[in-house]
Amino acid sequence: MAMSERRVTRRGFLLTLSAGAATTILAACGGSMTPTIAPTAAPAAAPTVAATAAATRAATTAAAAPITVSATSTVASVATRAASPVVSASPATSVTRAASPVAVATARQIAVAATTTHIQDFLKNVGGNRLLVSGILKPNVDPHDYETSVQDAQTISRAEIIFVYGVGLDTFMDKAIANANSKVPTITVTRGITPLAGDAQEPDGDPHMWFDPTLAQKMVTNIGEALAQFDPPSAVFYRQNVQAYNAQIAQMDTQVQGIYNQIPAVDRKLVTNHDAFQYLAKHFSLNIVGAVIPSISDAAEPTAQDINDLIDTIREQQVKAIFAESSANPKVAQQVAQETGIKIVDNLYGDTLGAPGSDGDTYLKMMVADATTIVTALK
Ligand SMILES: [Zn+2]
Repeated sequence: MAMSERRVTRRGFLLTLSAGAATTILAACGGSMTPTIAPTAAPAAAPTVAATAAATRAATTAAAAPITVSATSTVASVATRAASPVVSASPATSVTRAASPVAVATARQIAVAATTTHIQDFLKNVGGNRLLVSGILKPNVDPHDYETSVQDAQTISRAEIIFVYGVGLDTFMDKAIANANSKVPTITVTRGITPLAGDAQEPDGDPHMWFDPTLAQKMVTNIGEALAQFDPPSAVFYRQNVQAYNAQIAQMDTQVQGIYNQIPAVDRKLVTNHDAFQYLAKHFSLNIVGAVIPSISDAAEPTAQDINDLIDTIREQQVKAIFAESSANPKVAQQVAQETGIKIVDNLYGDTLGAPGSDGDTYLKMMVADATTIVTALK
């Protein structure tokens, strides 16, 4: 067993090298495609790995249909690109785009547990089929007052490496990890990033950092470096995927700024459901004039005075809409909207990604979806 593992590892390393070469060739040719490691040099890779449906799908896509990207809209094309760090070890001329990252040749997948839906998505983009990512938080579940389940305990005890978000957003994991008696590495994805100030409910700082794409890139880099250390034979693969995915984030950043620029900065006035959007506002020049729940955590309750003040602000500033998140309770927001006669837009993606198949089921898509929703309501 040790023999075959070593062989696989070595082959993985060779593959990685040639993938690097493919990238260089691509770059030299001015190729803009995201490179992928295709299983040409390692025919055993896909079959021996407990092949997931995604892996099979990716392989099929790559083999059967060279560019099957049918971009019906900008969102769709971003989404498709998002799913794709792909390097071909075969000649650069036959590089095809697969549906998801293809991992280096390996004996088995690494079991990873990850808390928030954003970091689950980052991990899938960086680790591809090398990882088996189990999410603790599911789409549309509010992280602020989450309590772990029996199933979460099992996920944690099976994990070989655990990724948590940090900044107080998933402190529920401390207890869960201790209870599971897990001794595996726990990586805080936001390490090294200084958050904006928090409040009484969020003393560690404002955790909603993914709304600034440059901070999301730092998280992606942190994830890649942690994986490279944990699984050195695939280090080059992870780092290539970090580079490719961070380039897609940069592209999304430009696209999203373009969407916000459709309305003058002075008219970009937001009233939101809870103070989740400070990073978004800062990065894209939006102006948050009020929040229905005047706290960074949506676990807080507004007082009658808070609500009256907000109604005054909405009238004075001629705010056009209240933006609520899909994961938060919109009851108070509805009350304020009714009182002021403005509309309520209740489908922003805030603390979680959307369900699979929604227009916010990846980080790149949710950022575009939110911008589109906000701009449409403010026009
Ligand atoms: Zn939040």
